[in-house]
Amino acid sequence: MNRTDCIFCNPKREILAENRHGLAFLDSYPVSRGHALIVPRRHAITLFELSDEEYADCFQLVLPLKDLLLARYAPDGFNVGANCGEAAVASGLVPGVF
Ligand SMILES: [Zn+2]
Repeated sequence: MNRTDCIFCNPKREILAENRHGLAFLDSYPVSRGHALIVPRRHAITLFELSDEEYADCFQLVLPLKDLLLARYAPDGFNVGANCGEAAVASGLVPGVF
C-alpha cells in the first residue's frame, strides 16, 4: 500500500519508465543532469524488504531507463546504485562523466 505522505510513493514527476512493480522518474535533487530514481510501487524503506518480483521488476527498469537517459542527455557513462535506509530509495541511475 502506498503512503500518501511519501514523496517516492507520490513522485509528482514525469514517469520515465514503469512496469508492474516499479517506476522511474527524475530525482528532485539531482546529483547530475538526468539523475533518475527507480522505486517500487509499494512503499518500502529498503531494497531488502522487496519481494522477488518487486526486486526483479525494479532492476528490469535499469536498461530501458538507461536507453532513455542516453538519448536525452548523452552522458559518457552511468553510476547505478542502490541506497538502503530511511533517506534512500531502491535504486538510482545517475548519468556521469568518467
Ligand atoms: Zn513510499
